[in-house]
Amino acid sequence: MPYMKTMEHLRADLHRLGLLHSTQSLLGWDEQVNLPAGSANHRGQQAAALADLVHREATRPEVGAWLVELEGHATALSEDDQVIVREARRDYDRATRISPDLVQRKVALDSHSYHAWAAARKRRDFSAFAPFLERQLELAAEEAACFGKTGAAAYDYHIDKHDPGLDAGFIQGLFTELSRDLVPLAAAILESPVRARTDIFRNFPVEKQEAFLREVTTALGFDYQHGRLDRSLHPFCSGVGADIRMTTRFDPDNPLDSLFSSIHETGHGMYEQGLPENRLGTGLGQAVGMAVHESQSRLWENQISRSRPFWSHWEPRFRALFAEELKGISSEELYLAINAVERQPIRVDADEVMYNLHIMLRFRLERALFNREIAVAELPAVWAELSQELLGLVPEHDGEGCLQDIHWSGGAFGYFPSYCLGNMMAAQLWETVQVAVPGLESDFEAGRYGRLLRWLRQEIHQHGRRYDTRELVRRVTGRDLSPAPLIAYLRDRYGSLYL
Ligand code: ZN
Repeated sequence: MPYMKTMEHLRADLHRLGLLHSTQSLLGWDEQVNLPAGSANHRGQQAAALADLVHREATRPEVGAWLVELEGHATALSEDDQVIVREARRDYDRATRISPDLVQRKVALDSHSYHAWAAARKRRDFSAFAPFLERQLELAAEEAACFGKTGAAAYDYHIDKHDPGLDAGFIQGLFTELSRDLVPLAAAILESPVRARTDIFRNFPVEKQEAFLREVTTALGFDYQHGRLDRSLHPFCSGVGADIRMTTRFDPDNPLDSLFSSIHETGHGMYEQGLPENRLGTGLGQAVGMAVHESQSRLWENQISRSRPFWSHWEPRFRALFAEELKGISSEELYLAINAVERQPIRVDADEVMYNLHIMLRFRLERALFNREIAVAELPAVWAELSQELLGLVPEHDGEGCLQDIHWSGGAFGYFPSYCLGNMMAAQLWETVQVAVPGLESDFEAGRYGRLLRWLRQEIHQHGRRYDTRELVRRVTGRDLSPAPLIAYLRDRYGSLYL
């Protein structure tokens, strides 16, 4: 059976590509964690050389011929091999259908556009960035057209890039339903006489913060034999299961920021650590997409680590480490600070109640831009209008408004929805696992997370990209992705605190 030999070639080739990709990612981590300032130019050249090599490897005509041959024998292949071929086709088309000329123009624009955005944000002047955003939208449309997606479908193409199987119409439906319940819930919480104070933390030594969050993330199940935690300006998680690189940042007056951002990245890291290592580079060894990834980080960060059972275990240890610093702060004040809800304009500082509203705002604007319902020049005005409607405030300047996020400067459209979809999915998974694995909260009270992690490994991690986003949710939870579990969870968690 010659096609079996071809399948072996394809698997070996994808594995090698996976190694090259993880090497690229390691260089990226190093750039943000270790790189001496004077070495940036050299690193840029290394990254460009490696990107060129990876692109040539990923687009070899030989691979295209293998795929055609294997697709001709699809029904004879094992189920696993069918997934590998299907996902290799998706990646191969993505790498080959976009012309080298478009790729080059995009790389050049990204660099100029990033600097224009950073300068415009500093001066709080959107008009300086607007021409670059227009250019990014044109290139995004051009890229989508390479796949036959034009007009409104171009936005669907970009959404599907991050979250296979999703489109703008489906997301619009979920967001409409979510906002109907979430806007009044958020308003009621914000009007509550109960107020969380987040300014009660002062001078928490960074070394002790780090010791605490390492204890916590180890207990959650992060494998430090196959991963590291370092410091960077913005927290992130990169790498593959065999070698995960997470980062965090420390502020002596905000120990909860480093703790929860580390737990968040740990959720991402444990997903990667749960993907089958022997499937590296194939569709079976890769995450489904951004929304599923975010469901993992948010579940650990919010449903688990902001809960009373979690803190009933960890508060004594936290107090033992920070006896002086926590003097005068009651358990209830601490718990309220962990679950503070505030009206403020910046997405990355938003709590889990308000965060989703920040995302809906961006989704509506992106969709309107792609559908040509609004022009780029109108963005600040429309942003202010939507911000009033959803968040109950108007940004004081563009830096607090449409210039606050980096995403559009790199042409990353259709990415924002993943964050909110991840929140919905996390709540839906949490609802399901509480029935499937009874007594989890008692586990958390005892500082044990193994049963939860094993369930996630079994239901989500081990499958890689076998199922697309919606199919995975349907299989695990028995129904389509829905905002109802998120609303129920927020009502329960925040209602009991504030209402
Ligand atoms: Zn994340």
